[in-house]
Amino acid sequence: MHYYQHAYIDGASRDFAPRASLTLLDSFTEQPLAEVALAGEGEACAAVNAAKLAFEGWSRTPVAERAAALRRIGALLAQEGDFLAEAITREVGMPFKLSRRIQVQGPVAAWATYADLAERFNFSSKIGHSVVTQDAAGVVACITPWNYPLHQITAKVAPALAAGCTVVLKPSELAPAAAFALVRAAAAAGVPRGVFNMVMGEGVVVGETLAAHADVDMVSFTGSTAAGRRVASVAGAGIKRVTLELGGKSASVVLPDADLPLAMRHALGACFLNSGQTCTATTRLLVPATHYETCVQLLRQGIAGYVMGDPMAPATTLGPLLSAQQRERVLGYIDAALAEGAELIAGGRDASEQPSAGYFVPPTVLGNVGAHARIAQEEVFGPVLTLMTYESLEDAIAIANGTVYGLAAAVWSSDPQQAMAVASRLRAGQVDINGARFNPLAPFGGFKQSGVGRENGIAGLEEFVEPRAIQLPA
Ligand code: NAD
Repeated sequence: MHYYQHAYIDGASRDFAPRASLTLLDSFTEQPLAEVALAGEGEACAAVNAAKLAFEGWSRTPVAERAAALRRIGALLAQEGDFLAEAITREVGMPFKLSRRIQVQGPVAAWATYADLAERFNFSSKIGHSVVTQDAAGVVACITPWNYPLHQITAKVAPALAAGCTVVLKPSELAPAAAFALVRAAAAAGVPRGVFNMVMGEGVVVGETLAAHADVDMVSFTGSTAAGRRVASVAGAGIKRVTLELGGKSASVVLPDADLPLAMRHALGACFLNSGQTCTATTRLLVPATHYETCVQLLRQGIAGYVMGDPMAPATTLGPLLSAQQRERVLGYIDAALAEGAELIAGGRDASEQPSAGYFVPPTVLGNVGAHARIAQEEVFGPVLTLMTYESLEDAIAIANGTVYGLAAAVWSSDPQQAMAVASRLRAGQVDINGARFNPLAPFGGFKQSGVGRENGIAGLEEFVEPRAIQLPA
């Protein structure tokens, strides 16, 4: 059992009288995993105050010193690697061997990457008779979700600190281990007091207090589109800089000349990673109408290879969902789709051989789904792949672009030029051709209601600076 009971404000752990307390259950055993004390407005305001007082000093600290602090944080987090991977596995359900690599090793490495990027960044340049400096944006509120907790925290806090901003982190109360590990690492790394603060609490309380606070200059938010809309409107009243990383309903477009077995295998993997609790999950699989039956057979074969079970066990390839509430939500989407006339190709509520405990949804493929069906338009956040057909290339592109989201997409074709031509017409921030792997240095973010702004690499660092032009006399 873990107890997450304090806030981290002005360089010290602060006990507080909680507004409420949350008991989190292990996603597999369903037994109590952690007690989380939820802070309130008072802690949020104290953290902003500390960050405001620390800003002048940190933003003027030489970049090499800031970079060194980031490297120390990365090294300290690495020492907690296996503890963190197991904690996140128990919280969100991702199989441990994947958690180690994706939930921990990737984010840990990003601290050193941001140190390198900041040291190479042009904080000052000349344009004609102007000196243009890139100044730290100020006090930043970072609000993050639960599905890749250390990754999402790192993608904001590391570049913000590297740029010279001071930070108040409001992590998800549903997956707290990563935020508390970062508190330990920041304290041990000697980050000056007030530069990094953490307040765990509910979004509508702590999150909104931060978004509305007059001394917060910028809000960097990752989460659902509904919460992002609210954060943007609260922060907008104060004319703050706001970046939003939101939901998705991403499409894989399989062209008639694609390697179908490979495309179907990848389509399942890209949809079911972290049991579908992934913002970039390609949940809509678009195949030529003429290839539908072949794809159905290949998908059934692929699904048969998934092993549900204890996410700590090496053989497990599909873990449980975060909570009973998430499971019910996802099963509800499956039920509604079937009631609307979808074909159950594999999985579903009553699929056989489900573990007796844990918040599992069997890996599910639904066919014969129309482009406007609810299951084809809304984010499900579970292991549910929707198979759809198209008649022509134009039709495929229109269906792929036909949601309010635009986070990610995939294209499959044996013709590289054709694949590139289709990729460049998809209104999404990340497009992978033929299963190409994730690039942590490439800009990451959404078109349309999937977000505003970009994370990762140099684009992620640039979000946290404000240009200032100083004109020199002739
Ligand atoms: P969520 O929107 O419920 O919560 C995200 C964070 O916002 C949490 O810390 C929460 O407490 C806080 N929050 C909620 N309401 C708030 C409010 N009114 N004001 C301020 N803060 C508020 O999302 P979640 O369930 O934690 O995460 C899943 C969602 O996140 C999915 O929609 C997923 O697509 C999205 N997501 C997007 C990305 C991306 O990079 N685009 C990455 C991961 C997850």
